[in-house]
Amino acid sequence: MTGDQRIENGGGREEMVRIQIASRDIADVRVLAAMRKVPRELFVRPEDHRAAFYDGPLPIGCGQTISQPYIVAYMTELLKIGEGDRVLEIGTGCGYQTAVLAELADRVHTIEIIPELSDRARETLTGMGYSNIEFRTGDGSEGWPEAEPFDAIIVTAAPGQVPPALKAQLAGGGRLVIPVGTSTQYIHRIVRRGEEFDDEGLIAVRFVPLTGGAE
Ligand code: SAH
Repeated sequence: MTGDQRIENGGGREEMVRIQIASRDIADVRVLAAMRKVPRELFVRPEDHRAAFYDGPLPIGCGQTISQPYIVAYMTELLKIGEGDRVLEIGTGCGYQTAVLAELADRVHTIEIIPELSDRARETLTGMGYSNIEFRTGDGSEGWPEAEPFDAIIVTAAPGQVPPALKAQLAGGGRLVIPVGTSTQYIHRIVRRGEEFDDEGLIAVRFVPLTGGAE
């Protein structure tokens, strides 16, 4: 088979999940199934189709990137999304992570600050038939107050500090997964317990900065 045929019949995705994700430390079967299903190749620029399953980030235009497949899986697993959950995503980008979330949750609200990316993601995802995603163009650091509370919140750009509004919009037991820091960043998972928040610092990562109010 040629590379292109493999991509068309989903073989590229199967290999991506097996080699880069399942054989590392991601075991959540729902996350693995969602990543086998979502056609990652349709979210990258046409000239990058062959590189869609590369084990690293890729440019998506406007100076932004689509995250490495492993990082998408890692952050999604930490969110522990249930079928009935309502999810907020800050940093829609190309919409790939959004699609993975939409496979797992009841409803996804997603916010992107760059209008061109927000519009393109909406077009891609609507064209694929997703009907459980709400889009907003703007600064996500204030969250989406009209739609709170959320069972899970994921941020895919890094602020220096966790925006307080995002913690406030978590439901009881809700999970916030977010890269935090300027030069050195770590993924944090924050879990709401009543008015208390458990905060775990996890792996070191490199994301684009969260721009706008929370810089
Ligand atoms: N999950 C995306 C990651 C894109 S990179 C994907 O896999 O494609 C991070 C995105 O966050 C960029 O598109 C950037 O424009 C966006 N972003 C940065 N600051 C933001 C803010 N304050 N509010 C909303 N989106 C923001």
